[in-house]
Amino acid sequence: MQPYRSPHEREARLDTLARAAGADTAVIGESVDGAPIRAARIANAGAPKVLCCANIHGPEYVGAEVALGLLERLAAPEGEIAKLRERAEIWIVPCVNPDGYRRTWDREGKGTLAALRTNARGVDLNRNFPLPGGALRRSAPGAGSQRHGDATYCGPAPLSEPETRAIAELAATQRFHASANLHSFMGTLIPARVTDRDAYSTYRDLCRAFVSAQSHTRYHRVASRVFDVFTGEQEDHLHHALACWSICVETFPVAASLRQHLRAPSLFWRFNPRDPARWIENDVPGLVRYFLTALDLRAPPLPAPA
Ligand SMILES: [Zn+2]
Repeated sequence: MQPYRSPHEREARLDTLARAAGADTAVIGESVDGAPIRAARIANAGAPKVLCCANIHGPEYVGAEVALGLLERLAAPEGEIAKLRERAEIWIVPCVNPDGYRRTWDREGKGTLAALRTNARGVDLNRNFPLPGGALRRSAPGAGSQRHGDATYCGPAPLSEPETRAIAELAATQRFHASANLHSFMGTLIPARVTDRDAYSTYRDLCRAFVSAQSHTRYHRVASRVFDVFTGEQEDHLHHALACWSICVETFPVAASLRQHLRAPSLFWRFNPRDPARWIENDVPGLVRYFLTALDLRAPPLPAPA
């Protein structure tokens, strides 16, 4: 699993970087198996707040590394990173799913997607958020399954899991202006699903801002006003329930993953680059420019109460 970190090393790294960046750390919740879910916060009284979350899916370690890479750069801010520090309060949650991370570590990254991606109760946490506006769950590829044992099992009810409740409560109390959720692998940017023209084109601009700062590989935006469906994802909940600009970032493009291994020796090496530094370097500037661009916008409008 080198050069990736054990669960303990990941938390130790969070502490080291938080100290260096002048951030405080907070436990925002606990996993099913009792592991703390921790955030670093660089306080900035009165400033709008931004949130970077990662690793809601167990094997997606590179996401946690990109989140930690953002914190590392915030410790020695220059250029746009310094601007972001000036203009926003920054929250970073490198690992939303510590049980999935630990399971992936203990099994050395071997296993099925369903076995490694979910929390300790087999729930895909990124299908466990409430569907906006009481939308009904529709069947579509990846839309979330109601069957325990499936890789996208959505759980018995929205926010049935302590990990999603921790994020939903944090977001409800802090009222973030913008957020990014880091995943792997695909090499794509997926904004919250919106159908109104203005928000849709704003997300196009936000994604353009993101890729304009990427140093070697630009990601494609995946969005449709028509064909997308609500699936209980974090972005959709944050945008529609909490008026927060929100995108999913899938680090590490398919082509790069296939170049690395045509047949990966384990699921882990399909999802994670052997050289995470190259992708941290590519994606952190994108995140920073995305946040800065979002800070120039008004919050997305909340739907009128029914
Ligand atoms: Zn994911």
